[in-house]
Amino acid sequence: MTFRLPAIAIACAFAGIVTGFCGVSARAVEQGPDLRPPVQTHPVATDVRVGGDDKQTRFVVDLTRKIDLAAFTLADPYRVVIDLPQVNFKLPDKMGEHGRGLVKAFRYGLVMKGGSRFVLDTTGPVRINKAFVLAAAEGQPARLVLDLAATSRESYLRNIAQESRVARNSPHIHHPPIAPRVSSDPRPLIVIDPGHGGIDSGTKGLDGQDEKNVVLALALRLRDAIEDSGKFRVALTRRDDTFVALGERVRFARAHHAALFISIHADSIPRSEGQAEGASVYTLSEHASDAEAGRLAEKENKSDIIAGVDLSSEPNDVANILIDLAQRETKTFSVQFARTLINDLKAAARLHPRPVKSAGFVVLKAPDVPSVLVELGYMSTRGDLKNLTSPEWRSRAAKAMAQAVDDFFARRLAGAGNGG
Ligand SMILES: [Zn+2]
Repeated sequence: MTFRLPAIAIACAFAGIVTGFCGVSARAVEQGPDLRPPVQTHPVATDVRVGGDDKQTRFVVDLTRKIDLAAFTLADPYRVVIDLPQVNFKLPDKMGEHGRGLVKAFRYGLVMKGGSRFVLDTTGPVRINKAFVLAAAEGQPARLVLDLAATSRESYLRNIAQESRVARNSPHIHHPPIAPRVSSDPRPLIVIDPGHGGIDSGTKGLDGQDEKNVVLALALRLRDAIEDSGKFRVALTRRDDTFVALGERVRFARAHHAALFISIHADSIPRSEGQAEGASVYTLSEHASDAEAGRLAEKENKSDIIAGVDLSSEPNDVANILIDLAQRETKTFSVQFARTLINDLKAAARLHPRPVKSAGFVVLKAPDVPSVLVELGYMSTRGDLKNLTSPEWRSRAAKAMAQAVDDFFARRLAGAGNGG
């Protein structure tokens, strides 16, 4: 029953007029330890309805049973986040792509073990007038109800400021700080970073496949392929369908003293922009190597916004890292690995015509860990998609990438580390 009561309390202080909602949290506090047998199945969200206009909008979720919630707003871009205990979402396809009234669009999914969330993109600043869950009654399912009203940016920001003063000590997506780890195992550590996860599905394939699943499958295969050599240790930033914030991924690599960081993604482009195919490898740069690389970085950097991370409460250690002289060596190694990777990948995968590029990817910002981001191919292109979803291709690509890791470290050990 301790599901983020602080967040609920914050939302109460923030909204002020959330009657039904705050009643729920007060009861939860009085109940003390929950001695009931654990519930085996998660509640299921079965439908969502959005009604209203550009002044007032109601967001309703049908649920198989009553649950607690916490709702809060975020600015730049304007979002409303509804945090719930873990929920299974059985909603129609494409649900959330288009909203109504003040809600432009919405997403949903897991943000951490035991916690699901809705993130609503709103057309402008909004106030949460009510947020509560009704028990099932008279043939109606349990219902989550959120009432939003348009407000001014000024009062919106004032509300958020009040909220965040209380919220500082209880971030909504809470990960315990990662303590620096020193391993007694002297082998270099390779951190594999499957992109997206949980509420952030990444891009979509022609047949509706989610990037987050495609890249996780490749990442797991890559882990095995690298471990097979016996020369390296491997860690993953996520091993299942959960969300990990971008800064968290960087901090993970740094805390574990990673020798190399490989972020795995797949791209797609709208039909109107024609066809594109093949794998590319990206390194970090302040200025994008070309406009397409810049747009891609912008898209990949949206992960935290998609998941409703409060960027203003993210520690600045990652956001403010400048690409300066201190990073020159890391940068050189990153580019070297990118080239090695493309060279080894050639035999196993189709390559983009210009396969080595650079842009300002947040996830590549560890100043002391050589880092690359691999776009395996285009999920919007039939041939690439066929590869990306084929276990045989995955094995081949993973082996080629593991070979690149091997080659890269062999070259570094041979003292060839100061080229460009
Ligand atoms: Zn991606």
